[in-house]
Order: sequence, then C-alpha cells, then structure tokens
Amino acid sequence: MMEKFWSDLVSDPSYGEIAKRIYDIRKRIASAEKKSPYHQKTHLLLATKTRTAEEINFAIRCGVHRIGENRVQELLEKYDAIDKENVEIHFIGALQTNKVKYIIDKVDMIESLDRIALAEEIEKQAAKHNKVMKVLCEINVGGEESKSGLDPQEALPFLQSLDKYPHIKLCGLMAIPPVLQDELVQIEYFQKIMDLYIDISAKKMDNKDMAVLSIGMSSDFELATQCGSTQVRIGTLAFGQRNYHNK
Ligand SMILES: *Cc1c(COP(=O)(O)O)cnc(C)c1O
Repeated sequence: MMEKFWSDLVSDPSYGEIAKRIYDIRKRIASAEKKSPYHQKTHLLLATKTRTAEEINFAIRCGVHRIGENRVQELLEKYDAIDKENVEIHFIGALQTNKVKYIIDKVDMIESLDRIALAEEIEKQAAKHNKVMKVLCEINVGGEESKSGLDPQEALPFLQSLDKYPHIKLCGLMAIPPVLQDELVQIEYFQKIMDLYIDISAKKMDNKDMAVLSIGMSSDFELATQCGSTQVRIGTLAFGQRNYHNK
C-alpha cells in the first residue's frame, strides 16, 4: 500500500522529482537525528516562496505537514488554492507591522517576531480574532547588518517581556546563521542559538511552550539537525531552483 502510493508519487509526470527529493531529504534528516545528542525529533518545513499552489499541494500529498511563506502578498494569492486540512502554514519572512492583519487568521505560526512593535500588533490582531498566535523569535545569531532578527545579547529580556501578551504564545526560536564553509564555525553558531533556547526554556513564563528550534536550510540542514534543530526549513533542495516567474 505504502509502496504503491510512493511509486505513484515519484512517477508523477509533472512533480515526480519533488517526491523523490522529499523522500531523500527525509532519509537524510533521519540519519542526522541519530547523530544529535539531544534526541529531538526534527520536522520538515518546506519554504514555498515562488512555488505554485499545485507544487505545494503535491508536496503536501507527499506527507509534508508544515509549509512556510515569506511574503504576505504571495501568501494571500495562493492561500485559497492550498489544501489546508493537513498542513500548518507558517510565516517565515520579514513581517511589516501594518500587514499583520492580513495574515493573522491564515497562519498557524509567525516565525519572524523580532521587535516590540510587531509583538504589540500581533497581540492586538490576535485578540480581535479571539486567537492565540504562536510565534518564534528570530535571532540574528551572526550579528549581520543585512539580516533581521534580535541581537542575541538583547534577546532574553525581549523574550521575557512577551509574558504580558495573552494572545501570543512563544514556541521557540528561529535563526538564519551566516552561510559558511567552515563546519566548526557553523556549529558554533548553532550552539549559540541552542544555548539561548535552553536559557529561555528554563525561565518561568505562562505563555510559552518552547517546542521549536527552527534552524537549518538546504545547505546546512543535516548539520543543524545534528546540533538539535527541531525544524528545518527547506526550499531549493525540495523544489529545485526557485522560479521567480511563478509568484
Ligand atoms: C527561502 C527560505 C528558506 C529555504 O531556503 P533554501 O536555501 O531554498 O532551502 C528557509 N528559511 C527562510 C526564512 C527562507 O526565506
């Protein structure tokens, strides 16, 4: 039964390659998990920017339960066409405060919370919808000018301040570490975010459930998994090179 199902997916004339790639990614996550000292489960989130709703729905048929979109406009365009029963939709891109209202009832998690003004707006909009919004805080673990995210030094007081928002639930941390050639330096960045994750997990707060450490992308997901990631975000490796004409 299972095998027949997979053989149907991998022989799909349009999207068979996606099925093969997802199968391969899962295998590689599973072996990387075995090398992690944290014994965590690492979930696969597919980063779906520039992908069509048809491609996304095919990936969902392959058993993917989490997808992530980067841009509000693009999410809204695809939203109705996505098969939503079995999938969580995460928002993973930089989020302008004035756009929160468009996505608050459409996403299951916002992974890019990085400032008080955004927290206040999420609280306000979530309250309107009588919803508790799950969030991850984005940490700029490499201290890079070009990237958003909280400075690791300032993160702990910010995270603790979220306790005052009843319609926000802090579920963990997200980071996009610098892309590096040197594995040992990369491991140091992953370790740095893990240390912060452990620190904040130990704090007493009412509205948190630190289940998610969202690190690892196409180029570094195995290393991130070995370093304790509970969710890798993968685009290119699952779908192939991005097609910016599709969006
Ligand atoms: C695009 C994107 C990814 C996936 O990147 P790939 O290198 O294509 O795997 C992960 N996280 C975020 C926030 C992204 O925007």
